[in-house]
Amino acid sequence: MENSEILTVEAQGNGVAVMNLSSYVAGGKIKSDKLLEVRSPYDNRLVGTVTQANSSHVQQAIEAALKSKTPLTRYERYSILEKARNLFLNRKEEFAQIISAESGLAIREARYETGRAQDVFLFAAIETLHDDGEVFSCDITPHGKARKIFTLREPLPLAVCITPFNHPLNQVIHKILPAIAVGTPVILKPSEKTPLTAIKLVELLYEAGLPHYMLSVLLGPTNEIAEPLVKDPRVSIVSFTGSVAVGKLIATAAGYKKVILELGGNDPLIIMEDADMDKAVFLAAEGAFRNSGQRCTAVKRILVHEKIKDEFIKKFVEKAKEYICGDPSDPKTMVGTVIDEPAAEYLENVVKKSVEKGAKVILGGKRKGALMESTVIIDVPRDADMVVHESFGPLAPIMSFKDIDDAIKLSNSTAYGLSSGIVTNNMEYALKFVKELNVGTVNINEVPGYRIERSPFGGIKDSGLGIKEGVIEAMKCFSYVKTFSLPW
Ligand code: NAD
Repeated sequence: MENSEILTVEAQGNGVAVMNLSSYVAGGKIKSDKLLEVRSPYDNRLVGTVTQANSSHVQQAIEAALKSKTPLTRYERYSILEKARNLFLNRKEEFAQIISAESGLAIREARYETGRAQDVFLFAAIETLHDDGEVFSCDITPHGKARKIFTLREPLPLAVCITPFNHPLNQVIHKILPAIAVGTPVILKPSEKTPLTAIKLVELLYEAGLPHYMLSVLLGPTNEIAEPLVKDPRVSIVSFTGSVAVGKLIATAAGYKKVILELGGNDPLIIMEDADMDKAVFLAAEGAFRNSGQRCTAVKRILVHEKIKDEFIKKFVEKAKEYICGDPSDPKTMVGTVIDEPAAEYLENVVKKSVEKGAKVILGGKRKGALMESTVIIDVPRDADMVVHESFGPLAPIMSFKDIDDAIKLSNSTAYGLSSGIVTNNMEYALKFVKELNVGTVNINEVPGYRIERSPFGGIKDSGLGIKEGVIEAMKCFSYVKTFSLPW
């Protein structure tokens, strides 16, 4: 199809017009009467529809991506990303409205997400221009030679990127842009819960001049689209962000290909007895409730030194009262819905189960539809489901520990190992946590989720294989190193 055919949607005040979007095979809209309906988790109104693909479109998308083409130069890739960045800057509000409408995230969170996406555009464009090679002189040992070894990065032939719902734009952009930056074609399978933002991003990239073979986006039943894509031997990398259960299925199904897995988290905020109390309270609330608690790096366990537990709880519960849930389109709403009603039911239930085990709810705990109240729970037993498994919502379970060794043991006790936040001004504590926590990231006096878009990001244990994303690391994932050597 021609770029001029691309549908644009006007943002309309508090909402967006119903969008009728399509899966695309290499720039061509798919024609089918199978439509995926996307409804607002807040009021169930129809937000949009997406024409679904089937297994024949998977074959077409793979073939289109692999047909031999002249590779894009660095400057061409940079220019496309830079043009896309400029288009995006003019449409940030439109994207924010779509994110909020289809995910139920509060509009303030959706606007924050577009700010992060803007940074990803910037860094991807800049990194495209960076030289990525290294030189190794070979005359540096007694048996060395007068030669030099040079490295360069080659794009992988084809990437499949599968993304979750929780950041409808950022999850997608953190995969597609690094792939484009190195010249690797992508077939994207976004979450069927939030496909509209993803498709609008794909359309924006086509409009910016991205050659169509470089990007397809397919929505459809898992057994017709995602599973065959993961298994296909012509695909050289599967980059997946989502739940542990699906990540492990993909690891088994993918066979002989590169697999990047960014999975769930159960991140602690550990508050030591010397902590700045106001800072601890603020970080705990922001970490637990922002983005409706639906961040892989949300604070899912608040671990407080027993000496300051009572004071912390008193102040935290007052702070938590500010995080009122409500209409996502209202700019004053702090917490929107979770992704759907079953997700809210799960959260309500996990709270009930922890109460049966002895925990006490001191704020919230109830839901209405997909709106889950910001909830503070104390005296949570160390083996309660809520703290052993990932709870993806605005829950703040508080547990206490007696000393730093106990805090480290408690923190390391789950199957996850994504990130962590520590509140302390004691350098010895800080260094011990950095050394002994089994996680991908330790942030001192910050929430576990703190990062910039170009710094390495990712977890270990059930949270991932220790392979990082972030623009620079993801560019490495989507390429391989070739070496050549010359006499010197
Ligand atoms: P999910 O695993 O249910 O779905 C993620 C994607 O996988 C979707 O696009 C879905 O359609 C697809 N999928 C489902 N079954 C599949 C299969 N058999 N084969 C291939 N693809 C399949 O996750 P979700 O509920 O959308 O997202 C929430 C999860 O994502 C949470 O666990 C959260 O912690 C995690 N997450 C992790 C990170 C990270 O960077 N570590 C970031 C954000 C979210």
